[in-house]
Amino acid sequence: MTDPHKASERLTVLNDKLIVALDVSSVDAAKEIVGRLSGVVDTFKIGLQLFSAAGGDLVSELVDGGSKIFLDLKFHDIPNTVSKAGIEAARLGVWMFNVHASGGGEMMSRTVDEVGEFCFKSNLAIPRIIGVTVLTSTSAETLQEIGIDRKIDDQVVRLAQLTAASGLHGVVASPNEIKEIRNAVNDPGFLIVTPGIRSKYATNDDQKRVMTPGAAIAKGSNYIIVGRPIINAPDPHFAAVQILEEINSSRQ
Ligand code: C5P
Repeated sequence: MTDPHKASERLTVLNDKLIVALDVSSVDAAKEIVGRLSGVVDTFKIGLQLFSAAGGDLVSELVDGGSKIFLDLKFHDIPNTVSKAGIEAARLGVWMFNVHASGGGEMMSRTVDEVGEFCFKSNLAIPRIIGVTVLTSTSAETLQEIGIDRKIDDQVVRLAQLTAASGLHGVVASPNEIKEIRNAVNDPGFLIVTPGIRSKYATNDDQKRVMTPGAAIAKGSNYIIVGRPIINAPDPHFAAVQILEEINSSRQ
């Protein structure tokens, strides 16, 4: 069996791909996971659940402690409100945040412009701003239901192109959509962040279309998001090391 401590020593410089989803409901639970992953994972996703429970103070505290935070609040509102929310996310020091691409080009481009201007004036690092195309929980019926008469893949591509044209840094997408997005967006620097990742050792939970960490990276994902297989593991540190080893073996 792999010794997680020896493996983590070899992995320190190579872990620039794994984002762990802190899908828990309290500050204590979040800090415990961050602590147990110390030395192997430094990038964490805070979504609606934890943010609703813990707010911006936890974000600032983790940022001050050296973590990189992806604030996954999927902003979707009028352009003025989303750009102002983006400025507050930047003020908290987040490394990445996201907006719904279906909010439209003006909402996205104003957010990029106004967050960039704020960061420049305040001497802050500009967060990566990422668009959500079509949620992986959305089915063809859901699209029909809301009046979008198009196949899911076509809608994903259309929104990825709009995201890129609006100046955002990339998209969150299913690993099954990487190829279409890379073909449609002619920019090798465009980031693709993929949830729906399951190691060959893990169960799928409620994720329907999953891919292994190595396969997602090999297909062109820049960052993979993993939640339950790490945070619910008996030994989260060991589970993270196993995933990092799968990523690194796909790069050799
Ligand atoms: O536990 P699991 O690895 O399935 O967690 C995946 C994380 O990625 C969760 O925080 C989930 O909300 C998020 N996510 C997702 N599918 C999307 C967008 C985000 O699973 N399309």
